[in-house]
Amino acid sequence: MPSARVLLVFLVLATSSTAVAATKALKFGKLIDGTGRVFTNAVVIVEDDRVQSVANGNEPIPGNAEVIDLSPYTGIPGLIDAHTHITYYWDGHTTPRSEPPRHPAVTVFLAQENAQKALEAGVTTIRNLNAADGTDVAMRDLINMGRIIGPRMFVSGLGIRITRSTAPPTPIGIMADGVDAVIHAARQVIGSGADWVKMFGSTGGFDDVSEFQTFTFDEMKAAVEATHALGKKIAIHSYGPAGARDAVRAGADSLEHATDMDDQTIAEMARRNTYYVPTIDHNQYYVENADSVFHFPPGAKDRLLDYIRRNFETAKKAFQGGVHMVVGSDAVYNGWGLNMRELDWFVKMGMTPAQALKTATAEPAAMLGMEKSLGAVAPGFYADIVAVGGDPLADITAVSKTENIRWVMRAGRVVVDKTKRTERAN
Ligand SMILES: [Zn+2]
Repeated sequence: MPSARVLLVFLVLATSSTAVAATKALKFGKLIDGTGRVFTNAVVIVEDDRVQSVANGNEPIPGNAEVIDLSPYTGIPGLIDAHTHITYYWDGHTTPRSEPPRHPAVTVFLAQENAQKALEAGVTTIRNLNAADGTDVAMRDLINMGRIIGPRMFVSGLGIRITRSTAPPTPIGIMADGVDAVIHAARQVIGSGADWVKMFGSTGGFDDVSEFQTFTFDEMKAAVEATHALGKKIAIHSYGPAGARDAVRAGADSLEHATDMDDQTIAEMARRNTYYVPTIDHNQYYVENADSVFHFPPGAKDRLLDYIRRNFETAKKAFQGGVHMVVGSDAVYNGWGLNMRELDWFVKMGMTPAQALKTATAEPAAMLGMEKSLGAVAPGFYADIVAVGGDPLADITAVSKTENIRWVMRAGRVVVDKTKRTERAN
């Protein structure tokens, strides 16, 4: 029988921990709230996992609040990376994609490192597109349970592929040929717990920049309709313009990668509100790691550089054409942590830093159907908040360079704190 003293200790611990955890007051020198407002000397009151209020510094702070002074920094909403591969883990020794086979549980365990790197890049939400054996569903659920510390995840499970492909067979994906098989595959993916469906509408990936359309328009349309009928959304991957054109006409919710799109397709994307996730920087990452990490064959780098140039020009045209643009890093292996470098390309193509910031906050939040919970520091929203050094509205590298990310809160919990290091440096 437990003694009265033990019970009392439990009671005190339980009471004090809730009292400390419940209310937090965050002070920022400047706050970009993600809805277009900028606060000076802001105070954000966080209640459990949500933002309760945002105000200028003169507002009184509740007496029970834990005060976190981030006044040397600029506060921004937690960042969203809309195209990732969190279960692609690299051990630093073997060549990625030729690693020894791993049990799915081992993959989930190891991928926690990628999750941590995402948080350190200020990324508090990801959309993960293609993972084997339910490893992404497991991570999503463990993170939601608070048992793994990581970004909240929207996941696609296995991507839908077709046997009619010129590319070498890949291990991850459901093979589906024909309208009936595609409908079955989309339902199977959703039934297995996915939030999104991913379809590979063309070849291309890693060192392969081929752009052959795989699924037909009818197959894409069947996948879109089967997905929407179950209340979910679908992302279609296409490296080339033909797959992109059909993906957009078929009603994909987002289009991934895609170069050389014609004016009609771009106009159609703007009209239909198709989100475009160009993932320009991921090929830059492959160029940088082509020899040292991936050991790509000769000529791969030149092909990647040519692809980057066309990818950038197409994305620029889409931005100028009014298409909703979204940051997707396509992060894999040691690319984790570089998640927000895509923002530099967006500014280079003519976005203001404020417009670029939206492509990693408000725009992907809306794409995910989470525009009332994610992408802003505002009452009722999840307390996903990042403190950066510098002013992102003057220079986007305050966000895109990971070393400028100083402190991260996800759902009211501090998950990264590098503010003390700065104090020592001063
Ligand atoms: Zn990808």
